[in-house]
Amino acid sequence: MNVYDSERIAGVMAHLNYKKTSDIEKADLIIVNTCAIREKAEQKVYSFLGRLNRMKLRRPDLVIGVGGCVAQQQGEKIFDRAPYVDVVFGTHAVARLPDLIAKTEKVNSRVVDVDTATNVDPLELTRIVTETSGSVTRFVTIMQGCDNFCTYCVVPYVRGREASRRPENIIAEIERLVDAGVREVTLLGQNVNSYGKKEGLCSFPELLERISNVDGLMRIRFTTSHPKDLSTALCRSFRDLPKLCRHIHLPVQSGSNHILSQMNRRYTRESYLEKVSELRQYCTDIAITSDFIVGFPGEMREDFEQTLDLIRTVEYDSLFAFNYSDRPEAPANRFKEKVPEEEKNQRLQTLLRVQDRVTLRKNRALIGTEQWVLVEGLGKKRQRIPDNSGESMAKKPQWTGRTAANKIVNFEPEDLPNSTRNNLTGKLVRMRIEKAYAHSLWGIPLAVGKTPAAVKGEKSYAA
Ligand code: SAH
Ligand code: SF4
Repeated sequence: MNVYDSERIAGVMAHLNYKKTSDIEKADLIIVNTCAIREKAEQKVYSFLGRLNRMKLRRPDLVIGVGGCVAQQQGEKIFDRAPYVDVVFGTHAVARLPDLIAKTEKVNSRVVDVDTATNVDPLELTRIVTETSGSVTRFVTIMQGCDNFCTYCVVPYVRGREASRRPENIIAEIERLVDAGVREVTLLGQNVNSYGKKEGLCSFPELLERISNVDGLMRIRFTTSHPKDLSTALCRSFRDLPKLCRHIHLPVQSGSNHILSQMNRRYTRESYLEKVSELRQYCTDIAITSDFIVGFPGEMREDFEQTLDLIRTVEYDSLFAFNYSDRPEAPANRFKEKVPEEEKNQRLQTLLRVQDRVTLRKNRALIGTEQWVLVEGLGKKRQRIPDNSGESMAKKPQWTGRTAANKIVNFEPEDLPNSTRNNLTGKLVRMRIEKAYAHSLWGIPLAVGKTPAAVKGEKSYAA
């Protein structure tokens, strides 16, 4: 979500003729887009700001802005810890940013705007779509805010109430992205399953169907899906929409009913497991991933054991796990029986070890299978190969992409015919999986799929 918001910020700043630079030393304006979900994310903001302070001492004209959730949460207090910041703007103030920057430049004073009232619909701010910097995959926000009030979570307080974008605006944005070369979109919302309900728009599965009809778009993903609102219609979408990737992120947070109730998640371990079965009934090989919080206040050893048991029962493809972090606004902050930090760390390590074994087993099961991989570009790591003398090393390019189940696959293009070896970015490549590691797979490319232009209206290629 922050990646998407940063693009919107860049979009509004472009109206003031600001252009992005990859060299921070050359920037006239630096905007720090912040996250408040856990305390650690918040601490990172201040250490990064400290670095910017040193730059500002050398270049007093540098303008520093702080936006996002920490800005919304702390407002003017940011100036107490970082007096060199010029602009603090909250989650609803992005459209007003050009005015705020102009104000600080003119009157040379600090400006803060954490007003949640807005005359511009913050959901409908367009971003600069032409600037896709060659990326094949992009995020698209379909809704913002949250009405769920899980007791540990800061989101409803810093992002406000849930609001959905109109389907036609979402589709128009995706069409612009596809025209600029994007092949896969990930739809974003805190609870995509309640998309459009409040506003009486179409349902989320209907939105998926409409997006599926965008010519040239190869793949659709989404996050996050709240288990309490996961509908049978959405389970069916995985069966019926070929462009919808066979992967769902279904955060469970805990395997203990007592803790789930304390978290106000409004589902039980049993109802969650039923949803998992229903998903697998409609789509046998769907990849399922999740989020977990360990050490929530009052989490006893037995509660944690139930979490481990759930992980073994579901057999997730992968997961994210976090130590519970107190957030000042969230009610769990006031809950008693806090779990000591050391205990949380131990539980986190245990949980990750259990999942590592499951992940590796599931990845190994893919060896020998054929998968469609959407190529995202040259991988960061390039394999080093000794030359004949064995002294100097040449670098061999290694490409990277993802399966529909969101598994990273690295490969070398040598086995493909010469004519198809270059410009693989954005192409679907049929791949035989040869090796499996904890976080990635290694494949041999077999064939390059059809390009989107050749398959207009055809839906069956994006397996
Ligand atoms: N809307 C999504 C979650 C968004 S926040 C959902 O309900 O599934 C992303 C993840 O951060 C959450 O799933 C949770 O695991 C974690 N998280 C949120 N607040 C946290 C906190 N106070 N401490 C630790 N982890 C937290
Ligand atoms: Fe936070 Fe719960 Fe809303 Fe997710 S559903 S954003 S965890 S309040």
